[in-house]
Order: sequence, then structure tokens, then C-alpha cells
Amino acid sequence: PDYRRAAFSTSAARFNQCPPDEGWEVAFAGRSNAGKSSAINSLTGQASLARTSRTPGRTQLINFFELSASQRLVDLPGYGYAKVPLAVKAKWMRELERYLQARQSLRGLVLLMDIRHPFRDFDRQMLEWGTMAGMPVHILLTKADKLGRGAAKSALLAARQEAAAYPDDMVSVQLFSALKHEGRKELTAVLDAWLTD
Ligand code: GDP
Repeated sequence: PDYRRAAFSTSAARFNQCPPDEGWEVAFAGRSNAGKSSAINSLTGQASLARTSRTPGRTQLINFFELSASQRLVDLPGYGYAKVPLAVKAKWMRELERYLQARQSLRGLVLLMDIRHPFRDFDRQMLEWGTMAGMPVHILLTKADKLGRGAAKSALLAARQEAAAYPDDMVSVQLFSALKHEGRKELTAVLDAWLTD
């Protein structure tokens, strides 16, 4: 697909508000501030497709972006705003789990983690739900430009070692920098494979 043609289609606050479960979709998940909006904007070449600074209310929505009639990118709610009450977080985690487990058109999960703080609780939860549902998970170590080359490489190798703990090569890892536009080709190769038969 041509990621530059991505266009906002709809928001869902609950699982049952998602668009019809047909075709193919790929979901992006990450703790808030992981760099998810920046990555989606970089991928699509659209500066404000996914807002970079969002209100806590907005982060609770699952946003769907259409690439074609049968292909979608999905922006899943971030997590970690201190202002959001615990009960609200718990509720939206349940919706997220439901979406990851039940959504038939979902072909893969892109998990974004700040290269300086990988594998937090939220990330491990997403990895578990994704892989348990039999879904491949592709990890982006974001803001790779924040580390020097050597340190970034070390972080990549360490993350790949963690990924290897999951069965059947279900989890892959790459470096990504929205700022330097690095890692886009590697990412689109993975997405292309997931979004087609
Ligand atoms: P989100 O909450 O996951 O959507 O994160 P954002 O995309 O809004 O990014 C959070 C912060 O990290 C912002 O201040 C961005 O400018 C910054 N950021 C995002 N991507 C990069 C990157 O590749 N390099 C650097 N240096 N900063 C980034």
C-alpha cells in the first residue's frame, strides 16, 4: 500500500464501535510519549495525521486510518497519563485486550518503545496479548537518534535477545527515528507483508 495515502476514517471508544472486521489492518501501540504519533506521521508523510500532543481524553480512542478499501492502520490508545484515573485505565486496557484477541482483520502489532526505556510493564502486556493471540509483533526502538551509534546497536541486540524468548520468530525488532527519518524502509517492508496475503 501507499502509506502516504492514509486518511483518517473513524474513532472507536469501545471495541464494538470498530469499523467492520474485514480486510487487513495493522495496529500501533506504545506507552504515551513512546513516539507513536511521530512514527505514524513519519510513515505516512503527513505532519498531523496522528496528533503529536494529545489530550488524555483523545488517547482513549482507537483511531482508524484507511490506506485502501481493505487496508487500515490503527492507532491504539497510549498509556501512562498520570491524570487518568486508575479505573479508566483498567477499562481501556480491557478494551485493548478485547481488540487484540478478537479482531480478525488484525494481522500484526507494531509496538513502539523509547530506546532508552524498553520493555516496561505495558510493553510486556502487549507482547503477551499479541503473541498469545498468534499475532506477530514488530518492535520499534524509537528515538534511536537519542543514543550514539554504538549504544543504539547494543540496545538493538539486547532487545533482539528478549524477543527471541517468544516462540516462532513472532517478535522482531528494529531501530527507528522519526526525527532522522531512519528505519522507514525496514518498517514498510514488515507492514507490506502483513497487509497483503
Ligand atoms: P506518543 O505519545 O507516543 O504519540 O509520542 P509523540 O510522537 O508525541 O512523541 C513524544 C515526544 O518524543 C515528542 O516530544 C516528540 O518530539 C519526541 N520524539 C518522537 N520521535 C522522536 C525521534 O525520533 N527522535 C527524537 N529525538 N524525539 C522524538
